[in-house]
Order: sequence, then C-alpha cells, then structure tokens
Amino acid sequence: MKVLKFGGTSMGSEDSLRQVASIIRQNYEDEQVPVIVCSAMSGVTNLLLEMGDLAEKGSMPAIDSLLKQIETKHLEMAAVFEITEEVEAAIRPLLEDLHGFVQGIARIRELSDRSLAYLASLGERLSTRLLAEILKQEGLPGIQQDTKFIRTTGGSYKCGEVDWDQTKLDLLQALNPLLEQKQIPVLTGFFGTNPQSIISLLGWRGGSDYSAAIVAVSLDCPTLEIWTDVDGFLSADPRIVPEAHVISHISYEEATELCFFGAKVLHPRTIRPVIEGGGEVWIKNTFAPEKQGTRITKVHEEKCQTLMLSVASKPVVMISLDLFGSLKSQRIVYKELFDLASGCEARMDLIASSESIFTFCMSAEDMGKNGFLEALENIAPLQIEEDKSIICIVSPRSVHGQAGVSAQIFQAVAKENVSISAFSQNASEIAQLLVLDTPKVQDAIRSLHTSLTQHCPCEQ
Ligand code: ASP
Ligand code: MG
Repeated sequence: MKVLKFGGTSMGSEDSLRQVASIIRQNYEDEQVPVIVCSAMSGVTNLLLEMGDLAEKGSMPAIDSLLKQIETKHLEMAAVFEITEEVEAAIRPLLEDLHGFVQGIARIRELSDRSLAYLASLGERLSTRLLAEILKQEGLPGIQQDTKFIRTTGGSYKCGEVDWDQTKLDLLQALNPLLEQKQIPVLTGFFGTNPQSIISLLGWRGGSDYSAAIVAVSLDCPTLEIWTDVDGFLSADPRIVPEAHVISHISYEEATELCFFGAKVLHPRTIRPVIEGGGEVWIKNTFAPEKQGTRITKVHEEKCQTLMLSVASKPVVMISLDLFGSLKSQRIVYKELFDLASGCEARMDLIASSESIFTFCMSAEDMGKNGFLEALENIAPLQIEEDKSIICIVSPRSVHGQAGVSAQIFQAVAKENVSISAFSQNASEIAQLLVLDTPKVQDAIRSLHTSLTQHCPCEQ
C-alpha cells in the first residue's frame, strides 16, 4: 500500500488535476488501494489567512471579494470537469460556514490561534471535496474524508503534537471499512483534532506533508510519495545554480538538515516518523511523473564520491551575547537563554560559542515572538546583526572522518572573497553551517557547488 500526498500546485490547475487523477489511477490499477492526502488548491490558504486578517480589522466588503475568489477557483475547476452540481453540493455548506465564521470574527475583532486553525483548515476541506468528485467522474471510487481522526495531544492549535496511539485507533476505525470496499480515501492534509475534538493544525505552514506521514505510519504503510512541482531534492537552488542536479537517493538525516535550511521541498517534520516506522519517502514531480525523483531512506548505502550532496540557505538575524559583560556565570546565562527561547517558542538555528561570546542565529520572525528580544536584553549585553544568512552544506555520511573537507569548504568561500561571520559543525559531520552577509550568499553557493559537488555514479 502507498500513501500519495499532493501539494497545492498539484491541486491548482486543470492540467495538474488531470495528472493527479492519472497518477492515482496507475496506483489503483498496479497495486492495492492508495490513500490520498491533499493540500489546499495553490493560493487558497493564503486567501483564507488574508480573510482572517481583514476580519480582525472589520473590513467585510474586502472579505466578500476574497470569499468569491475561493468559490470561483473551485467551481471553475468543477465546470471544466463537468461536475458543477456535485461539487456545488459538496462545498456550498463549507462556503456558507466560512462566510458566517469570518462575519463572527469581524464582529468581535479577534482572531485567536484556535479560530485561525479552523479558518486555515477550510482550504483542504474544499480541495479534497473537489478531487474526490473528479476521481468519481474519472471512474475511480474516491471518497472524501476530513482527518478529524488525526489526534493531537492538545496545547498548540498551530503546530500540534500527535497522540500516535489514539490516532492509530481512530484512523484505522475510519479508513479500514473504506479500504476493504476498495474505495480510495481522499484525506485532508494540514489538520487533526485535539482531545476536545477542536481542529488543530499540524505544522505552520506546509503541514500537509506531515499529515501524510502520520497517515502512512498509522497504516503501517511502507511507502509515502510526496507529489510536488519539482523533480526532487536538488544539489542547490536552480535559480542560483542553473546546473544543479537532482539527488536520486538521500538518507533521512541528510534530507532533514536540508528541509530545515531552506530546501522548501518537504515539511521538516515529515520524514522521521515514516523512516522510524520502517518505511521510505519519495519526492516525485506531478508535472513529470516519469522522472525518478528522490528516494529518502534510513541510510544511504552508496559510496558517494561527492563532498557535498546539496547546499541551501536561509536569511537569519545573528545575535551575540557578551558573557563577560553579563556579570553572571556562563551556566546561568545558558539556562536563562534556553528557558526564554523555549518559553517564547523561538527557535535557534545555529549556535557557536567561546568563553566570552555566545553567538546564535534565529529567523527575524522568531526573534520578534512573544517578547523574546525584550527579555533577552535582560540576560546579557547583546549585539544584533541583521541581513545575515546561514548556508547549510550537507555532505554524504561517507565523508565522516575524511580529512580536509572543511578546508575545501572554506577555500571555496574564500575564493569569492567572502568573509564568514560564524560557523558550526557537529560531530555528525553531515551538516556544516556558515553565516555570511546575505548579499554574498549567491556567489558563495555557486563557488561551493562548483568546487565540492561531483556527479556521483549513483545520481541521475
Ligand atoms: N495548505 C497549507 C499551507 O499552505 C498546508 C500545506 O499545503 O501543506 O500551508
Ligand atoms: Mg508543501
């Protein structure tokens, strides 16, 4: 059995939806019944969030035009597939619900995380109803299901933790009867419900990948395919390095590092549960299904010749704490810092320290979260440097213990006359992180790619 997850662009146009139906048909004919998990149609989650914003400000006329756009997107597609009546019947109650909901928000002028989660879930609830009708029209037994059976432990409405045991029970109870009848479940990505049965999201944003992983693990399914709009993990962003190539096989550690550092192919929470459950994840391109894609497994056995599998980057703010200037002992500063970051839900991306200075990086968004920066100023004197980026260089496990890898990385960056503001490499040797001035990032990436990437026999 396979779980197939289709992203927003796969759900976004007539051509892509025809491809989706054909990929599902192939899997239905070739093997057992596939289970489908979908994102919202591309752009719809953004429209919903914009509606939420406007509702909070009380601008109802602007909201009505966004609601119309969402309705049109789905009904236009229904008309193309000649299923207007069926889709209308399936989505009209949701559109009415959405209208009433935002009116309520506009009246009280308050959008809590709980309301936001409900609002955001509507994109997937609409898209899956459309896809299920398209499948039926194409002669495939699609059946739409809201994933209320993915259970969270409560706490966060935006990025819930999964209650795996309860989810497995509820999910099997919901899906087994459908699978026994050879029906194809078309499931909403992005959300589950908390112990009080209130909708909670599973990752802010892009959480549908994680939904698909949860479904795959709960069904003991050996293969999760993430169908998206790129050929797989690439050795670099092709807008920066036009000769970047697809990585055909990567381990989950390598892939996870890349997901956290700017490769937008996959939500970083996705891979681990599937791999730990003994399965594997594939990245495939809906628009070029014949291409092999990237396979992610627990270990990557092939002996790669290359020193670098891939390079990614993301913008950050670099913060340095003056440990001496704090007049506190080092361990007190560390404790206060980590307690604060955890309490504010602010994520640190890179840590590098010496006796006198403790440097870390963070996204500008996280730095502004829940009063983090204001409270940080009370811990130690600090220096903030903006317009920095982290470059993450991911090497294959086979370089472990090899001399001179870091030297080549530094040489490649030095060639471009770029100064490194901070760096970090842990004992795994898989990921090396460099902090540079953002305007220098593209040159550094190009130089790293030229100097360190060799096309392996195992690559496409
Ligand atoms: N529709 C949601 C988002 O845009 C979830 C997803 O697509 O994975 O973030
Ligand atoms: Mg996505």
